[in-house]
Amino acid sequence: MAPRHDLEPSTPATVAADPGPRHAPAELLARLRARADTDPVTHVERVPARAGVPAPWPQWVPEELRAAFAGRGVTAPWRHQAEAAALAYDGQHVVVATGTASGKSLAYQMPALATLLADPRATVLYLAPTKALAADQLRAIAELELEGVRPACYDGDTPRAEREWIRRHSRFVLTNPDMLHHGILPGHGQWSGFLRRLTYVVIDECHTYRGVFGSHVAHVLRRLRRLSGTPGRGSAAGSRTSPVFVLASATSGDPATAAQRLTGLPVAAVTEDTSPRGGVTFALWEPPLLPSADTSSDAVDLAPVRRSALRETADLLADTVAAGVRSLAFVRSRRGAEVVAANTRRALDEAVPGLGDRVAAYRGGYLREERRELERALLHGDLLGLASTNALELGVDLVGLDAVLICGYPGTRASLWQQAGRAGRSGQEALAVLVARDDPLDTYLVHHPEAVFGRPVEATVLDPANPYVLAPQLACAAVEAPLTPADLALFGDGAKEAVDELVATGALRQRPTGWYWRHRERPQVDLRGEGGAPVAVVEAATGRLLGTVDGGSSHFLLHPGAVYLHQGVSYVVDDLDLADGCALVHVEEPDWSTHARDVTDVSVVSVRSYVDAGPVGMFLGEVDVTSQVVSYQRRRIATGEVIDTRPLDLPARELRTVAVWFTLSPESLAAAGVDPGDVPGGLHAAEHAAIGLLPLIATCDRWDIGGLSTALHPDTEAPTVFVYDGHPGGAGFAERAYGTAATWLRATRDAIAECGCETGCPSCVQSPKCGNGNNPLSKADAVRVLDVVLTNLPS
Ligand SMILES: [Zn+2]
Ligand SMILES: [Zn+2]
Repeated sequence: MAPRHDLEPSTPATVAADPGPRHAPAELLARLRARADTDPVTHVERVPARAGVPAPWPQWVPEELRAAFAGRGVTAPWRHQAEAAALAYDGQHVVVATGTASGKSLAYQMPALATLLADPRATVLYLAPTKALAADQLRAIAELELEGVRPACYDGDTPRAEREWIRRHSRFVLTNPDMLHHGILPGHGQWSGFLRRLTYVVIDECHTYRGVFGSHVAHVLRRLRRLSGTPGRGSAAGSRTSPVFVLASATSGDPATAAQRLTGLPVAAVTEDTSPRGGVTFALWEPPLLPSADTSSDAVDLAPVRRSALRETADLLADTVAAGVRSLAFVRSRRGAEVVAANTRRALDEAVPGLGDRVAAYRGGYLREERRELERALLHGDLLGLASTNALELGVDLVGLDAVLICGYPGTRASLWQQAGRAGRSGQEALAVLVARDDPLDTYLVHHPEAVFGRPVEATVLDPANPYVLAPQLACAAVEAPLTPADLALFGDGAKEAVDELVATGALRQRPTGWYWRHRERPQVDLRGEGGAPVAVVEAATGRLLGTVDGGSSHFLLHPGAVYLHQGVSYVVDDLDLADGCALVHVEEPDWSTHARDVTDVSVVSVRSYVDAGPVGMFLGEVDVTSQVVSYQRRRIATGEVIDTRPLDLPARELRTVAVWFTLSPESLAAAGVDPGDVPGGLHAAEHAAIGLLPLIATCDRWDIGGLSTALHPDTEAPTVFVYDGHPGGAGFAERAYGTAATWLRATRDAIAECGCETGCPSCVQSPKCGNGNNPLSKADAVRVLDVVLTNLPS
């Protein structure tokens, strides 16, 4: 009998789900394509089905545990699960990096639970990036009903009354890095018994710990290692028996190195996915150009515009739902998810009144109960379509869908495959569609399928040596226990410099026994916090909390006058109180949308590295970026027409970060045929496209980076294009861009030159987040600018 796997995480749904009518993906795709005048499909890739490779249970898995797994439908592990489990049981740190729903949980459940059953004192700590995922895992472990394990979630939602019981009695504690950082490590005295007996640390969905957040988590784990395990007898205070780290990752490039950076330990990798998979038909879809609007104003030179990916996705979702196919649409922004759900509902209700009720929006900022209810409804078939942000990527169990629509390239091939992996039940074929947005990267990808299907997924980038992360983390560590020289080795490169700096600023004091924290209050460190704490969205009339928006986006989304959507209901912001972290809104549905504008300034602080290529210079260094949301436009929803621009009074925000920039001599530009008057437009257009294409090589998101171009910068004294990390201290993206500058700028140049438009469009040089309203822009001069750079730059 073939093994059946329901453990990733538990799937109560498959029991009760109404699978709906079956549609072969090819038929369904033909049906979707038939609607358009011109064929929007640029490529169809068949991802074949794969048979599973089972393995015997490892000898050390006790009968009690095998029986418990069998009770949940697992009769034998897949080979990759058995391999990873065996390494972990042997005491090796291991990362298992395989596809969505490949049963990664069993790989850590086997060694962790076998150890808890064999040693009644042992404990296990499980970390998930979200509370929802930890709750799912808790359910899966609890359902095994193992004697004496007493699994429990310990997070912000855990009632005070239960916390002490958990600290004393639970042997399998499930939490998240934030709770570890804010609650468990600072209160380690109360956890000393648990930490001393810690045998395994499970880090689930570890690929989510990337960029600045990942760098913070890397140090939280070092703080955990410092306080857990049994102190080595007679040896240096720093040496302890370390718990074994078992990490689970989505498919990613070089997971061993990323896991090593995250934990600071040598980690073995298991990467061959031996679970069975249904075949997927994967289509690349480019929305058609809109018929050009009648240009009543002759002064406006309108670029050709494609149908928006949001509208296209809403129509596709309406079509699949109308066909009775259980579908999930991934939309990159919260607002986008709301818009897709609202448009889909409207389209369905026009066709069949009431059918719209079977579609909803889902995103991270919703309250827990709301999310749970939506998951349940989709799994049970009450809902047929869900428009979601990537919140669902985080392992909450919605797999086995018949169609997955991806609205806009999610930024990395790793995320793309993770989203597409939600499609397909074992033994059944499914459809995945990537709907291109009107931007340079998406357009490039749907016309270069080899860049989507022919390349390995990216590596997860994090940089624990970022001084903006290291110093505050060392401060947190010093509060927990004075830092010793042995600890500095644990925290890695730059730790000594960071400690010296903390001493110099008076935060730490050096004594013979180590470095001590000098203040009464703990340092305030937010792991996810490039933009500060989340802002609560509150309905003024009722006091009801609608959801939250991360601090970084709040100036853009919640400024006074902003139109804010929640579950398809439109609200207008009355007031944004930055001190209290709260925005007051009221229900109102105006016929315009709002678009915030910002102004940005960059100044060079230091140059780390540069290439002198004659008339061209390429630089990597630190910069100060000042930006301020200064106004917003109101645009008619129906036509996109700008109604007016209104000023805003929000504080400027400062960012010290890492940038890559290039300079060109005015003579080289003139020789390439760029008129002096067109230099700003050429640089600006090149900057936009370069930002758009950076995710192709640097595993970031377009929204993680910013840029600035100018015909004469005071610091470089030359025409200059800057591209910077949008995170304090940098996140490794600009550094990557500098390291692969020739490849990056070649793809940028080709994307612009190959675009079919005449004078520039959102598919090449226009940017949705331009603070200058995409003005000036010169497509032809952007190609000339990049040609000058590429002919001079050594590859
Ligand atoms: Zn174009
Ligand atoms: Zn711009």
